[in-house]
Amino acid sequence: MEIKKNLLPADKLQPKPKDENALGFGRIFADHLFAMDYEEGKGWINARIDPYGPIALDPAALVLHYGQEVFEGMKAYYGKDGGVYLFRPEANIKRMANSCARLCMPAPDKDIFLEGLMELLRTEKGWIPKAPGTSLYIRPNMIATEAALGVKVSDNYLFYIMVGPVGAYYPEGFAPTKIYVEEKYVRAAPGGLGEAKTAANYAASLFAGEKAHEEGYTQVLWLDACDKKTIEEVGTSNMFFVIDGEVTTAPLDGTILPGITRDSAITLCKHWNIPVSERKITIDEVIKAQEDGRLDEAFGSGTAAVISPVGSFTYRGQEIPVGKGETGDISRRLYDEITGIQWGERPDPFGWVT
Ligand code: PMP
Repeated sequence: MEIKKNLLPADKLQPKPKDENALGFGRIFADHLFAMDYEEGKGWINARIDPYGPIALDPAALVLHYGQEVFEGMKAYYGKDGGVYLFRPEANIKRMANSCARLCMPAPDKDIFLEGLMELLRTEKGWIPKAPGTSLYIRPNMIATEAALGVKVSDNYLFYIMVGPVGAYYPEGFAPTKIYVEEKYVRAAPGGLGEAKTAANYAASLFAGEKAHEEGYTQVLWLDACDKKTIEEVGTSNMFFVIDGEVTTAPLDGTILPGITRDSAITLCKHWNIPVSERKITIDEVIKAQEDGRLDEAFGSGTAAVISPVGSFTYRGQEIPVGKGETGDISRRLYDEITGIQWGERPDPFGWVT
């Protein structure tokens, strides 16, 4: 597919951020985005690089009323060798296709998606920060644009990829998080949208998240919507426990997001001959393990922070400390290995880096 380039003149480009150590997350966006349209009967058309800016939508656009939307999150990294690296982009493309299927949306073709992303990265290479730990965050997004009221599947869509520089997640080293175990509100129920990366899941999470933040917690740990005991995931990360030396995470049963960092962590543990299982684990089992001194580590996994060690869980007013209050060996080892591969500093035995 030919990609049309509608580039801004050089004097209209924004200045790049001066301090790469103060980028934060998701506030700064590069000058251009990749976009294409889907029209019923025509398929994907109008692939283009456009200036970043407001998009015109009909007030009746279906996404604004019934939430037909899916997105992704991934990163590009500047390697020490000056190369630009992507981590498992085909996994994000596949996950977006699965999300599309769940939301009755036409998945963008893998090759067009990748081609558009590469063209955008070539255009915006200058926006990829170079300071240690920084990266270019990539947000593919797809929305239903048909103007119609009445619940229906849209005939038309806009797909776009926006990018922006983001800071190191741990400028001062690993900071263990305080997690609130949520019993009242649920993120996703069996048969629902949980495994799709779609706005509705994040909307469902906001109220409990706000409440937890107000009370000084970093994130909410979600429990199974039915039994309110089985652990699902935490905030925007998948959840891992290390109990008696065994690494455990919830199985992909449809209610949690199949994280790409999760899959990478499982693969690495297997590669290192660390026992690892995808099985149901309840909050009661975690409490029991802590009481018996067997809860070695707990951590979240996700694109933003890669590995995020948990310092404590609070459940029914009781604080459950994890390990010895410091980052555990497996958390540290996974973080170092995954980021090392992402930045092209360590061997890539699984062919994860593009
Ligand atoms: N769960 C949720 C709800 C998320 O939003 C994310 C972030 N994409 C994850 C888990 C982790 O997924 P990944 O490792 O692919 O970033």
